[in-house]
Amino acid sequence: MNKIRFYVCPTCGAVVQAEPNVSVSCCGKQLEALKAQPADEAHKISLCEVEDERYFTLTHGMTKEHFIAFVAYVRFDYVYFVRLYPEQDAAVRLPKGVGGSIYYCCSRHGLFEHRL
Ligand SMILES: [Zn+2]
Ligand SMILES: [Zn+2]
Repeated sequence: MNKIRFYVCPTCGAVVQAEPNVSVSCCGKQLEALKAQPADEAHKISLCEVEDERYFTLTHGMTKEHFIAFVAYVRFDYVYFVRLYPEQDAAVRLPKGVGGSIYYCCSRHGLFEHRL
């Protein structure tokens, strides 16, 4: 599961998760896997542990033009995926696992990775 890749269709906004060697297409076009980048100043996250959950929040705006499209917690044994939409809060509850990475995708700036 560590090797999972994310794809976003530029036409319809669909988000697809797939293994690296799978070819993914949507709306008649082949999609390219998003490359994860480390968090920058505008895409900083905060994590807060509450009992057996991890509360993930971003100070990022959630307008229709510029929002966080999804958050995913990827571990070797599972992927926990949450889709977000404009006008929502950029906040998600994730299971509190050990290891793995949290991925989050900005509609303008692409995919970010936070290694745990
Ligand atoms: Zn599509
Ligand atoms: Zn952004």
